[in-house]
Amino acid sequence: MEIKVLSIFPDMFDIIKKYGVIKRALDKNLVNIDLVNIRDYTRDKHKVTDKPGYGGNNGMVMLAEPFYRFYDEYLSLKGHKPYVVLPSPQGSIFNNDIAFELSQKEELIFFCGRYEGIDERVKNIIDIEISIGDYVLTGGEIPTMVMIDSLLRFIPGVVGKKESVENDSFFNGLLDHSHYTKPADFKGMKVPDVLLSGDHGKIESYRKKDSLLKTIIKRPDLFIKKELDFEEKELLVEIIKEMINKNTKYFERS
Ligand code: SAM
Repeated sequence: MEIKVLSIFPDMFDIIKKYGVIKRALDKNLVNIDLVNIRDYTRDKHKVTDKPGYGGNNGMVMLAEPFYRFYDEYLSLKGHKPYVVLPSPQGSIFNNDIAFELSQKEELIFFCGRYEGIDERVKNIIDIEISIGDYVLTGGEIPTMVMIDSLLRFIPGVVGKKESVENDSFFNGLLDHSHYTKPADFKGMKVPDVLLSGDHGKIESYRKKDSLLKTIIKRPDLFIKKELDFEEKELLVEIIKEMINKNTKYFERS
């Protein structure tokens, strides 16, 4: 996958390029992240990228022209339109499905805004406007890094085990199950016996139940949307039976 990011602060991207899973993916050439300084697409000798907004009492607005110049150059070099993402607090809220959708593109371009944002006329050359949440950040760089980090996890080979990605929260509409590591008894808090049993069938069903319960408790909004398969329905029945067995008083009252 080819990613190009247009920013006035390209060095900010060292944060993702130099560390961990993304660094390994870059080293393995699974992805290329090309940082483009928007100033290189300005026309004047001072390389100005922003001007005061029209209408008064406004902050600075990034010029549309450098973005258009990059876009036109890309079009003439590659012969096809790039897929352009505009990080913006006004966009659709980013989630796992959008991350997956973006991971399926061969080339992605991110336009990072600053100040009041980019001149509205840039909208004619963007494909999707994405917000990483209902709050305002000072620039598009951090949202872009969030999106890149998340979407690259779906590229085969980036995360060691495919199952790690598929078992993570949201992938199948549920939250991930709990995780424990050594010691088995930490300050009197014990790891559930089943995880030490070596019985893979039991461990699997314990984890699925844990995932169902966590989603119900922490994210009922997700659970309501989830289309349960037969096994998940059976596990839910088991969970309810186990709860009833532990709390017979509930039924005595009702
Ligand atoms: N005036 C804009 C508004 O209120 O909609 C906010 C501009 S913000 C200060 C500057 C830049 O930060 C935006 O152009 C965008 O690139 C980025 N940005 C800020 N908040 C964001 C968010 N929640 N999601 C994605 N990008 C964001």
